[in-house]
Amino acid sequence: MKVSVLGLGIMGAGMAGQLVAKGFEVSVWNRNPAKAARFGKLGARVATTPADAVHGADLVIAMLADDDASRGVWLGPAGALASMRREAIAIESSTLTIEWVRELGLAADARGVGFLDAPVTGSKAQAESGTLAFLVGGRAELLERARPALIAMSGSIAHLGPSGSGATMKLINNFLCGVQVASLAEALAMAERSGLDARQAAAVLGAGSPGSPLVKIVAQRMLDRAYEPNFFVPLMAKDLAYARQAFARAGLELKSAEVAREAFLAAERAGFGEKDIASIVELLRQ
Ligand code: NAP
Repeated sequence: MKVSVLGLGIMGAGMAGQLVAKGFEVSVWNRNPAKAARFGKLGARVATTPADAVHGADLVIAMLADDDASRGVWLGPAGALASMRREAIAIESSTLTIEWVRELGLAADARGVGFLDAPVTGSKAQAESGTLAFLVGGRAELLERARPALIAMSGSIAHLGPSGSGATMKLINNFLCGVQVASLAEALAMAERSGLDARQAAAVLGAGSPGSPLVKIVAQRMLDRAYEPNFFVPLMAKDLAYARQAFARAGLELKSAEVAREAFLAAERAGFGEKDIASIVELLRQ
C-alpha cells in the first residue's frame, strides 16, 4: 500500500515513522523541508509539494496544525486533493472544526476520492510507538480499506459514524482534556502556595478520583518543570476554540472551555508558545 503523510510535526513524524518501519511505501511532505529530510534516509520519498507527495498514493494522511493549514494543504496551490487518483482515500487526522472536515469531505466526494476524518487521541509517545487511538468518521468500506495503515499507527480504531463524527468526538475529548489541564495548574499552584508538599499533593490527586491518565502525566511534568513539547500550548487553545464553536452550534455554552482557553492564550502571550501544555502552571507560580 502506498501511503502519503502530509505534515511531519510532533504527531505526523511519529506516524510516518511507524508506517516506514512497518514496510509501507511512504511519501512525505512538510512545509518546513528540514523536518522531512530524515525520512528520506529511512527510505521514504521526500516530496516538494503536497501534490507531488500524493502522486500514486492509495492513502493520504494529513496531520496539520489547524483548519487554515489543512485547507491550504488539501485545496491550495499544489494542493493534495486535485492530484490524488480517483478511488484513493484522503484521511484527515488533524484536530479541526467539524464544518471544515465536512466541507473537505464534500470536496473529496466531488473528485471521486474517498474521505475519512480520523483524528487521534494519544500524544507524542503514542505516535512514536504506533499506539494512537483513531476516532473515525466516514463510510465503513473506506475504513476497511484504510485499516491496515491505521493499524500500523494505532492500538485502537473506533468507527463513530458518518463523516464529521470523528472530528466531533475529538473536540468533545479535547474539551475535557483542556479544562482538566487548566484546572490541574490551579490545583497544583494552590498546593504550593498553601505550603503543602506539591509532590505529595499530586500523588494524592493521582491516586484518587481526579487522577485521570492526563492529570497524572501532566502533573508530573508540572512538578518536574519538564516543558519539552508533547502538545504545544497554542494547539490546545485552538482545540478549545473549535470545541466551543461546535458545542455552541448544539446549544451548549462552554464557559469552562473559554476560561481554560484564556489560560492557554495567556501562557502563549507570556512566551510559552513553543512549550508543552504543562507549562501553563508557570503563570500561576510567577
Ligand atoms: P506540530 O508539531 O506543531 O505540527 C504541526 C504541523 O502542521 C507541522 O507539520 C507544520 O509544518 C504544519 N503546518 C502548520 N501550519 C501550516 C500551514 N499553514 N501550511 C502547511 N503546514 C502547516 O503539531 P502536532 O502536535 O504534530 O499536531 C498536529 C495536529 O494533531 C494538530 O491538529 C493537533 O491539534 C493534533 N493533535 C496533537 C496531539 C499532541 O499531543 N501533540 C495529539 C492529538 C492530536 P511546519 O513544520 O512547516 O511548521
